[in-house]
Amino acid sequence: MAREQIVLLGAPGSGKGTQASHLVKEFGYNHLSTGDLLRSEIAKGTELGQKVQGIIDAGNLVDDMTVLELLKANCDLENKVYIFDGFPRNGEQAKLLEEHVLKGAATKAIYFDMDLEHLIERITNRRVAPKSGEIYNLLTRPPKIEGKCDVSGEDLVHRKDDNEETVRNRMNVFRDTIGPVLDFYESQGQLVRLDASRPSDEVTKSLKEVISA
Ligand code: AMP
Repeated sequence: MAREQIVLLGAPGSGKGTQASHLVKEFGYNHLSTGDLLRSEIAKGTELGQKVQGIIDAGNLVDDMTVLELLKANCDLENKVYIFDGFPRNGEQAKLLEEHVLKGAATKAIYFDMDLEHLIERITNRRVAPKSGEIYNLLTRPPKIEGKCDVSGEDLVHRKDDNEETVRNRMNVFRDTIGPVLDFYESQGQLVRLDASRPSDEVTKSLKEVISA
């Protein structure tokens, strides 16, 4: 059973969601993705969902305190171990996460290092199954039946913000904001860098080694 909290850092499409699902199965982690939480607010049509929809569709960042409050409302750090995916996105969020959520809890921050140019093709070909959480790629991991999840049979979804224009903006936002996040965890002695350009099973192997160390 896992004991340390994990913060997964990496560009959109660097494989955080896919790798998180392995850790959930193997180590009993709870996967907490702020992108998923926000999309669920949009799907439910809540006031928050209406407020953030345009921001997400354009590939910009929602304001720090709104996302922090949503995150806090969905986690119970005293009893569970988490993979934080999609938060923090900037230096301020890294500080907020430490001060308001982690509060000194043992934590590893794992950075999925990758060349951003390859990611644009990867993301625009991504299809997701919202219920089962499975993630497909039309080029490298197509579903057995077109448009359907292999596990649940549900219809696959092409995320609205996975179109090329929005993806380019999301990459620019990532490039502009990740530096201080890495500096923060480096200065705390919590940062581990993984080469995420390797085949998925090799990344999984390294990740498990890091978690078990
Ligand atoms: P993701 O699923 O992590 O790619 O997130 C999808 C979108 O949700 C992002 O492009 C942002 O618009 C928004 N979002 C997710 N997490 C955050 C965050 N920590 N801070 C601000 N916006 C976020």
